[in-house]
Amino acid sequence: MQEKVEHSKEIVKNAVRDYRRIAVACSFGKDSMATVLLAREVQPKIPVFSIMTVFKPRATFDYLVRMNEQLGLNVTVFMVAREAEVPAVLKEREEQGELEVRLLSALAERFEAESAETELAYGKKIYEVAPDRCCELLKVEPAKEAVKDYDAWVCGLRNTEGRTRKDYKEVEFRGLAKVNPILTWTEAEVLGYLAVKGVPLHPWYSRVFPGGKRIRSLGCEPCTVPVYDWQEERAGRWKGTSKCGGECGIHTKRLK
Ligand code: SF4
Repeated sequence: MQEKVEHSKEIVKNAVRDYRRIAVACSFGKDSMATVLLAREVQPKIPVFSIMTVFKPRATFDYLVRMNEQLGLNVTVFMVAREAEVPAVLKEREEQGELEVRLLSALAERFEAESAETELAYGKKIYEVAPDRCCELLKVEPAKEAVKDYDAWVCGLRNTEGRTRKDYKEVEFRGLAKVNPILTWTEAEVLGYLAVKGVPLHPWYSRVFPGGKRIRSLGCEPCTVPVYDWQEERAGRWKGTSKCGGECGIHTKRLK
């Protein structure tokens, strides 16, 4: 494992050397946390940004502020939301100068309008009938905003997470560079690394559901369900929709 860690650090080191304007993305899932720790060991001042949505569980916002404080991340949160929809815990920490929330209000208006149209037409939520569009507005668009001033970003993507992640490279170029330093790590290696570093996991990972199912890939609340250990980690994402086990789009669409 030590060899893998050193290799991952080398990837970040090279990226930091090659790209002055570089940041690390953090969803506050297990893979993101491992990536942030690694990246900050190489470059302690590397900016950290996070794309949050109004559908993230409350536990994610609580964990975000806890980790932000514990690790001194000074995270910048990008969120498509109305002012009133920003969780109080984020606002409090922003007032204390611990983090920054960048609200994308125009997109929030568009999202509200499209959500209302979908509900009227189908009697269901937008994430149930049009999850690609929901992710486009709540995740991909804010991700574009988050990376617009950078030449490279570092992600916690891993190629054993699921069927859609098998063919990525450790460094990719698509408008800007994307650096995937823990690409070859397994789920167990990520958990082991965080345990050694003494970084607690998001509390949803320790919930055990009937049949021994667990949350193994963490996203928005309506689109995250527990899965068996023998399933792919991302099998519980968007279950029951056309994009089950798939991607929100920030790794598949051009951001710049
Ligand atoms: S994960 Fe689900 S709720 Fe979140 S943006 Fe995508 S479709 Fe919408």
